[in-house]
Amino acid sequence: MKEINKSTQSIWAGERDQLAFGATQVPVVHSVSFGYDDMDEWYKVATGQKDGHIYGRNTNPTVQAFEDKIRILEGAEAATSFSTGMAAISNTLATFLFPGDRVVSIKDTYGGTNKIFTEFLPKQQVEVVLCETGDHEAIEKEVAKGCKVLYLESPTNPTVKITDIARMAKAGKDAGALVIVDNTFATPINQQPLDLGADLVIHSATKFLGGHADALGGAVCGSKDLVEKIYHYREINGATLDPMAAYLLLRGMKTLKLRIDKQCENALTIAKYLKSVDVVESVFYPGLEDHPNHDIAKQQMSNYGGMLSFAVKGGVDTVRHLLPKLQYANKAANLGSVETVVGPSRTTSHVECTPEERAAMGIPEGLIRYSAGIEDVDDLINDLEQAFQSLPKHLFANS
Ligand SMILES: *Cc1c(COP(=O)(O)O)cnc(C)c1O
Repeated sequence: MKEINKSTQSIWAGERDQLAFGATQVPVVHSVSFGYDDMDEWYKVATGQKDGHIYGRNTNPTVQAFEDKIRILEGAEAATSFSTGMAAISNTLATFLFPGDRVVSIKDTYGGTNKIFTEFLPKQQVEVVLCETGDHEAIEKEVAKGCKVLYLESPTNPTVKITDIARMAKAGKDAGALVIVDNTFATPINQQPLDLGADLVIHSATKFLGGHADALGGAVCGSKDLVEKIYHYREINGATLDPMAAYLLLRGMKTLKLRIDKQCENALTIAKYLKSVDVVESVFYPGLEDHPNHDIAKQQMSNYGGMLSFAVKGGVDTVRHLLPKLQYANKAANLGSVETVVGPSRTTSHVECTPEERAAMGIPEGLIRYSAGIEDVDDLINDLEQAFQSLPKHLFANS
């Protein structure tokens, strides 16, 4: 049969196996345990010889539907889920990294991920090397010296830098490293890292997958062999996805393709508009032809995503005046939701970092992260326009 398209997969994948009583929707199974009158059957399920559920920390039917949906969308053999995106990242790294191991990554990973690399892994005697994001030669050089894990994120948060995943995956493979990609910003609609050669794909499902900012969750997809190891770490350590959250994520994912297409369209239109605004110093969006790695993005992504960022003249003072004026944007730390969300990077993705650390990462203090929602783009642009018009001119007179 012809391969099923993403829009159809978003709706149907993973659901049928979990339906009960003729229901057309996956039930929220709020049972902590699953009982058996037949001791032999119980034993078989408990020892993995038969499909079924035993205890909610391990598996649950609603959670399994979520895992199947993301697994199919990513084109993976297996998937497991987590209570949050950070749990997916920390549990995956903890599954494979031990004292004496070496991990290579980039400077611009998500703020929480960066903290794992700079604060927690070094305490476990894991050597961490963070390369300049987008400096492919530097990454190749470090990987060739030998490493257990090559960890990537593309596009990055918040300056939407792009890394050539296929090229880096090859470097990783050549060095015998496990290649892990955080695909939260692109989603499987726009980018499929496993097809590009990665071993594992990680998601914060909290963002675009759920898409409604009402549930936390995470996922990891890859080969059965690798995912089983990560699942084992998670089932024992306990960062399990809650069934109600799994249901909300599943429900959100039905419209994934529709939402992502609209968010990409809105983001590109807004990025182009922002380039025409005087107060705006710079605009970061991989869909803009002047983005330093636009060509790589064009090659490995089917569209450029709903995330962009821009720096304003006058820095933090301008941000302080501008953002409260926006009527159709939540001023909040999340992203990827149906409503537009804005926030300064210094209070959102990189709040854990010092101003010096942010500067070293190329994040101006006046940078605004903009997660385009699915509103009418004319309304979003009018909203931005009136906010820019309202700025007191003295703020950026000298800049
Ligand atoms: C939000 C985010 C995470 C962490 O996810 P949580 O669900 O908040 O724990 C990881 N990576 C990226 C790229 C993110 O945007």
